[in-house]
Amino acid sequence: MRETTIALTDRAPSPVGGAAPLGPPLLRIDRVSLRYDLPKGQSVLALDTVSIDVTGGEFAVIVGPSGCGKSSLLYLVAGLVEPSDGDIFLQGEAVRGPGAARGMVFQAYTLFPWLTVWENVEFGLRRRRMPAAERRPRVAHYLDEVGLTQFAEAYPKQLSGGMMQRVAIARALANDPQVLLMDEPFGALDSQTRLSMQKLLLRVWEHNHKTVLFVTHDIDEAILLGDRVLVMSPRPGRIQESIAVNLPRPRTLAMVMEPEFIAIKRQIVGLLHGVGEEEE
Ligand code: ADP
Ligand code: MG
Repeated sequence: MRETTIALTDRAPSPVGGAAPLGPPLLRIDRVSLRYDLPKGQSVLALDTVSIDVTGGEFAVIVGPSGCGKSSLLYLVAGLVEPSDGDIFLQGEAVRGPGAARGMVFQAYTLFPWLTVWENVEFGLRRRRMPAAERRPRVAHYLDEVGLTQFAEAYPKQLSGGMMQRVAIARALANDPQVLLMDEPFGALDSQTRLSMQKLLLRVWEHNHKTVLFVTHDIDEAILLGDRVLVMSPRPGRIQESIAVNLPRPRTLAMVMEPEFIAIKRQIVGLLHGVGEEEE
């Protein structure tokens, strides 16, 4: 895997921005391969020797074409699937099966339809037998973070798609996971809602600096959100390149027009589609 930094600015990177990670990684994906078995003794290699280190507090984004193994990679980190080869470590401990330390937000809405917004956010805390006096301020805090205090008593079917994803984000954060895994969480939303969700996620992230591993096929979204963008190859998925995003934080949607942003975008488009760089 190559590492590149496009620095067209003399501004110093923000403290949490793309600065080179120091110290041991919070999450280490170490030479992981994944082969799915198919009927009749055949198999498909979905991921090929993928290595990624994610530092505590880092917002790492993976982009890649459809079918390159992005979701599979998150399932592996979540402990829902086992690697065929290689290892995954969270704070130095090998991942074996799912655990509360890894929160997930999927593209499809995964709220419990029979629970209210409040109860959905509270669900994991109840399951961990957290006392009510501790649960209440925590649920209230995260509902406020995603702007849904007014909708605490509503049921999922009364909400728009964007609102449901805001509940899913609040629910994941309320569990205080060590790492938040997000698989194209805004992929099903219209472009306007998607932009407002990106803005919301940036704001929420400024408040808690969670370690995030975020998957998308939207290049603008990747650059806007990430401290680093990892570009995958078509299947079998490999990490082609790791690109540091040294745009300052807090980020704003207007940054998509900045020269640094466009330079990184050109590089990613070149990697994904083999165009852009040579056309200068
Ligand atoms: P992405 O999220 O990047 O679109 P996926 O991780 O969903 O990619 O899938 C990667 C590859 O593995 C695809 O070719 C897909 O068809 C295959 N695949 C995913 N899940 C399974 C499965 N359970 N059994 C067999 N093949 C699978
Ligand atoms: Mg996927």
